[in-house]
Amino acid sequence: MRERLRRRYQVYREVSRKSYFEGEIPVADLDRLAELLYSGESSGTGVSIQVSFEFVANEYGLPMLAGQLSARLELECQRCLGAMELPLALELRLLVDASDEIVGKSSLDTLYSDDGYIDIFDVVEDELILAIPLVARHEDRTCNLHWPTAADDAVAEAENPFAVLRALKTTESN
Ligand SMILES: [Zn+2]
Repeated sequence: MRERLRRRYQVYREVSRKSYFEGEIPVADLDRLAELLYSGESSGTGVSIQVSFEFVANEYGLPMLAGQLSARLELECQRCLGAMELPLALELRLLVDASDEIVGKSSLDTLYSDDGYIDIFDVVEDELILAIPLVARHEDRTCNLHWPTAADDAVAEAENPFAVLRALKTTESN
């Protein structure tokens, strides 16, 4: 049975019901993720995340979350501070409340439920935060003509990538 996505699921109940969930999660509802995204005027992309999943029993008889998510997020390019679109498509395959022993045997990570409940918004947010690059930059190295080519390599090392850009802006205004 196909159902609309909601936020919280009682895991064991959903395994036995064999339901399949589909829907959209607004990026605006994911505060920790939103902080990492482009904060300027948006082109309108990346406003929601498409999610579909089910809870199934895996080979250990444990529940597993299995599904997909896709999103077009807007990050801030650290070279020109403009918006940079990042299309993402991720597979969700996570054990639920697996013991350390099973996690050791399996190639999958485990999710820890809150007394048997999973918040799918939290799961999706965590997966996306792990998937986006720490330092985003347009593929086109000329997106900021004032950017010294050597800075591209230096910025990867820099603790704070904004420091280089700030220094550039100060030089320009002198
Ligand atoms: Zn750029």
